[in-house]
This record gives sequence, C-alpha cells and structure tokens, in this order.
Amino acid sequence: MLNRPKTQEQVCRECFFKAFEEEVHQTIVDNKLFKRGERLAIAASGGKDSTVLAHIMTTLNARYDYGLDLFLLSIDEGITGYRDDSLETVKRNEQQYGIPLKVVSYKDLYGWTMDEIVSQIGTKNNCTFCGVFRRQALDRGAVLMGANKIATGHNADDVAETVLLNILRGDVPRLGRCANIITGEDSPLPRVKPFKYAYEKEIVLYAYYKKLDYFSTECIYAPFAARGFAREFIKDLEAARPMAIIDVIRSAEDFVFAAASDEKLPQPRTCERCGYISSQPVCKACVLLEGLNRGMPRLGVSRTRGRHGEKAGLHPDVGRGSVSGAGSAEAAGGRVRTAATSVEALQGAEPVQEAAAAEGCATTSSRGGDDGGLQQIEGGAGSATGTGSKPTTEPAAGAAVRRRGPVEIEYETT
Ligand code: SF4
Repeated sequence: MLNRPKTQEQVCRECFFKAFEEEVHQTIVDNKLFKRGERLAIAASGGKDSTVLAHIMTTLNARYDYGLDLFLLSIDEGITGYRDDSLETVKRNEQQYGIPLKVVSYKDLYGWTMDEIVSQIGTKNNCTFCGVFRRQALDRGAVLMGANKIATGHNADDVAETVLLNILRGDVPRLGRCANIITGEDSPLPRVKPFKYAYEKEIVLYAYYKKLDYFSTECIYAPFAARGFAREFIKDLEAARPMAIIDVIRSAEDFVFAAASDEKLPQPRTCERCGYISSQPVCKACVLLEGLNRGMPRLGVSRTRGRHGEKAGLHPDVGRGSVSGAGSAEAAGGRVRTAATSVEALQGAEPVQEAAAAEGCATTSSRGGDDGGLQQIEGGAGSATGTGSKPTTEPAAGAAVRRRGPVEIEYETT
C-alpha cells in the first residue's frame, strides 16, 4: 500500500496507477485537449515529467483510441556532460514507447551551443539564453515535423507556482492566462498541459513504481541563485493541506478579470526577422542571438530600457539567414553604439529569466536531483533499487512523501 500524496488515500500500486492514469485521461477529455488525427509533439527532456508524459500519452492513446500521431521532440542545447547523457535516455524512450524521436540542436538552429554561450557570458544569465532558445526550438522542431500541438510536462506544482508568482508580481494579464491548460490556442501551434492537475510527487511515484527510464542529473550550468521561494511556499502549503495545490489552481481559474487587462497582452504574431512565433515584432531569440553574434552577449540581458529591437540598434539582418558564430565581424565592428537594451524591455517587460525553466529543463524544475522528493521519503526502507537516474531509496509501505529542500521553479510565463 502507498499513501497518495494528492488525496492521502491508502491504495495499492495497481490502484494508484489506474487512478493516476484515469485522472490524466479525464483532464484530457474534459478540456478537449486533442482532436482525432492530430500530430502531437511530446516535449521530451529525459526528465521525470516528460518521461511519464510520454508513457501516459502512449498508454492512453492506445487504451482510449485518441487517434493521435505521437512523436518525441527533444532539444539538444549542447551541454557536454548533461544533455548528451539525458538525450541517451530519450533515445531509449523512443525504443521503449515505440514512437519516433526528433532532436533539434541549438548549434544547428542558432550556430551556438550552450557550452559556447557560457564561454561568452559565464553562468549568470546562461539560463535566460537557454530558456528563450529552447522555447523557440520546440516550436521550430514541431513545425519541421508537421505537428499540430505540443504537449509539455508542466504539472500542478508548476502551475500553482506560476499563479503565485504572477500574484506576487501583480502581473494581472499573465495571471489571467497562466492557469490555462492550453496556451497559444489562437496560434498555429498550441501547447497543452495534460499534467495540469497531476502532482509532482505522484509523477515521481508513478515513474518510480513503473520503473520508467528517466534522467535526473543536474545541469552543469544550473543557476546558483535561489529562485525557489514560490515552490517552497507551495510545498509548505501542500504539507499542511495537500489539496492546497489544486485550490491555488482552481482559484486562478475562477478569477474574473476586467476585459481591459487582456489588452495589455501582445497578440500572437510572427517575428519580423526569423518568421517564427513571437508575441513581439522581434522575438527574444533574435534579440539574444544578435548580441551573441556581435560579441555583445549582454545586449540582450542588461537592464536599461528600450521598446523595440530596431530602436535598440539591432542589426536588421539578424535572424534572416544563417547565423554567424562567435567572434563574427559584426562583433568585432561593434556597430551598436547605444546603451545595451534588455530583452525584458524589448519584449514588453516579459520576465525572460523564468522562461529558462520552461519546456523541459529538468534541472530548473527540481534542483539537486529530479526526484521531486522521493529520496526524502519519510520512513524510507532505504533499500537501493535503482542506478544512474533512478531514485535510490525504496519508500516504506504507506510512507508519506516529505517535502524536499529549496528547488528551482519551472513555469510558463504566458
Ligand atoms: Fe539550460 Fe536548464 Fe542548464 Fe539553465 S539549468 S543552462 S535552462 S538546461
């Protein structure tokens, strides 16, 4: 028997599997997440959330005949000793679930690996670049593969944290949308969150007891800055009352906003330079790439104000064709003479730092190991049952999962 973290019910493993799967199925059905015949890209990082998502989507697609054409979509950021290893996990998942895998790399798309970017900017703003590039890379990979939708592994904890952070920021427009289970509904490539109501602890338990093959090593460029206050708070609420996570989400769903708040949100469009999905005339990826290619990587991340890429002195050709590597002639020439302009300002004060954590960075969703707390199972029997990426502590019968220490957060900014 085990104690379901979400409901505190005592259930056997088989009943837990069934309940977890049926709840995700109900979420999919109730919210009409998919249409028969759609081609669905499952954003796959090799971490616990996306691995369980791939397993569940494969299972439910067969069990309930959704009629979806599934494939795995992974992003290779070019982080030696981290992503190369996690991609091996995804490649095994491809075989295990029998669905094709497409890998797109930063090097191919942008001309830079994260290793090269970090060599230019250090480890302070690296996740800003990584998150912005990953978000667009997912879109580009999905378009390349003819996908209709992208499914991400964002779970209930992630959504509740996003709600909380948007409240703390007073960001009403985003607060009005952050709990949406579908984002970009009007865009050619909506994103869906089948795990919106699935607790992180239950995802971990499911992966563990199903013996799924997932990767939990921390990125070598994981940020040191503590950014997990929202997650800590949510975990505290959960410890006091497990349904608090769902209640936070439900509260956000029930908020009523003035129509005027919608007007502040940029409408979906395409970047006038690279042509990919953007909420602004020039997308964040093009802004950041411009800085990199000109040897001024902080162009995209410093904090002075600006409104638009052209006004900020961005080169008009950025994003139009092939990208140049580090140390380009542009960089040497230093054609920008104006003060550096922040991405936040260029893009309408969108908090890009948080974007780093979205779309499959397992590290930022749970620092110090991607076990969501499984290694701190209260009263764990302590038998070693896994190797490599697997959790190493077998939960005791009926054990309650105890909250872990500070963790980084993962949430969408939209
Ligand atoms: Fe990218 Fe995540 Fe590593 Fe940051 S921690 S560099 S967002 S993979």
